Amino acid sequence: MTTFLNLREQNIVRCREGYRKQLSDWTLLEWAGAAAGEMGEAANIAKKLRRIDGGFPGNAGEPSRELLVRELGREIADVVVYLDLLAAAAGLPDLGVLTASKWNEISERIGSPLRLS
Ligand SMILES: [Mg+2]
Repeated sequence: MTTFLNLREQNIVRCREGYRKQLSDWTLLEWAGAAAGEMGEAANIAKKLRRIDGGFPGNAGEPSRELLVRELGREIADVVVYLDLLAAAAGLPDLGVLTASKWNEISERIGSPLRLS
């Protein structure tokens, strides 16, 4: 099973060996821009899904809803991969640690007993 820690470990290796890139080759802004670009791709698919769900006319030859949902998942994964590289480049812990910490902070703030570990 993939974990955020596993993603971090493999992400850094693939970045170095697969793309011949060091994390420091890009600025934090460039990593953030890459993540935002992938988020834009996800949002574009969500726009197409909204068109389908709203019964609005789409572009000719647009993929089926099922295919678009599958593609949305692939773009969300792209976002996560780049966010992990952004966090790594900044010297931050993996996304699981970061997310649990922030999530718990919000739970505390709103008085929810729910916590992630
Ligand atoms: Mg993509």
